[in-house]
Parts: sequence; C-alpha cells; structure tokens
Amino acid sequence: MIITQKKPIEELMAMIGDAKRIGIVGCSSCATACATGGEKEIKALKDYLEAHGKTVVVTGVAEYCCMNLGVRGTLKPFQNQNLDCVVGMSCGDGVQVIANNINVPVYPSNNTMFLGEAKKLGLFEEACHLCGNCVLGTTGGICPISRCAKSLVNGPCGGAKNGKCEVNPENDCAWVLIYNRLKGLNQLEKLSQTREDKGYQDVAYPRTVNIRGKK
Ligand code: SF4
Ligand code: SF4
Repeated sequence: MIITQKKPIEELMAMIGDAKRIGIVGCSSCATACATGGEKEIKALKDYLEAHGKTVVVTGVAEYCCMNLGVRGTLKPFQNQNLDCVVGMSCGDGVQVIANNINVPVYPSNNTMFLGEAKKLGLFEEACHLCGNCVLGTTGGICPISRCAKSLVNGPCGGAKNGKCEVNPENDCAWVLIYNRLKGLNQLEKLSQTREDKGYQDVAYPRTVNIRGKK
C-alpha cells in the first residue's frame, strides 16, 4: 500500500489561501488505512476549515483515488459548484487523478511517503522502491533496494554491527536479513550470485505499463 502522512495543517492552509468554497475528496483504500483520508479525517478537516471561515461545499470518498473512472464518478457532485479549490486527502497519485478530473486548483493534504506494508495497525514499513526490475527471487524475498540504507544490490557494505545497519542502527541490516533468510531456505549460493547494478539512468520517467488487449 501507499503510505501517507498528514501535512502540517498550516501548510495546507497556506495552499488554500483565501479560497472560500472548498470540496474535499478522501480515499477509502490506502489513505483510510493510514488515517490520512478516510471519513473520520474528512470530517475533522471539514470542521477545522469551517471553524476558520471556510465553507466546505461538498465532500466525497473515492474507492481508490488512483483510479480515474471511480474518481470521475466521485467528483460528479463537485462539478458546477463554483468551488474555489478541492483538497485531495490521498496519495500524490490520487491528487493528480483528482486534478485531472476537475477544473479548479487541487491541493494535497498529505505527504506521500513510500510503498510499504502494514506490519500491524498504525505501523508501516517501507518495502519497495518500484525499481522496475525486481530481484526478490535472489534475495530471499527481502528487498535490498528499500531495506538497505545504501540500496546495495550486492551487499553487505561491511559496516553492520550486531546485525544492525551502520547508517541507522535502529534498523536491521538488510543483508544480514537476506543472509539469514537464504540460509534458512538452503539457498546460500544465491548470496554469491552477482546482481546487476540497477542502472537507474536507463529509467525514463514517467513510465507507463499498458496491458490493454493482452491476454
Ligand atoms: S527489487 Fe525491491 S524495489 Fe525493486 S521491484 Fe523488487 S521489491 Fe521493489
Ligand atoms: S549496514 Fe547493511 S543495511 Fe546498512 S548500508 Fe550496509 S549493507 Fe546496507
């Protein structure tokens, strides 16, 4: 899931500026799980804005703010409302989808942090940097790009102490984890396998994946 955190409210208010008539769009998937864009957070923002002289004309929650069709439907009641702006309570992708579907300024209430897993309620860990060439098959299912502070594909760097990363000793060294996992899987030979550098210079943004018409 995409992990988001609320921006400081002052930052959002500075974006909103003197806009008066405001719409709010939340997202019922990742942002709801992160408590940054569900019904509860929408109500809290609405109350705050109205206590600060704004009029929240309309609110809505898209099932997935990253999906164009659903967002278009969610935004139907927002059109022709003479809104001055819309606040998108989703990840940055969702805010862009909202902005593509309504012709007023759209402001993000959240910072988009990373793609990660919910370890338990309210605890999220970074898990994937979307590198476009997954090496998990050779690393025991542990991502060296997102879990190693130096994103080493052929680690370790040699600086780990007691299994902890030299960059941030609060974190386990990803390559110690990879070693232990591969050992447990009886696949230690994979450790000496050379993985190609990621070659990020070859990645041309924005990337597109098109599976339409492919079966
Ligand atoms: S190697 Fe890591 S960053 Fe790359 S796709 Fe796999 S999980 Fe994501
Ligand atoms: S100590 Fe481990 S996790 Fe930290 S940078 Fe070195 S190889 Fe990566």
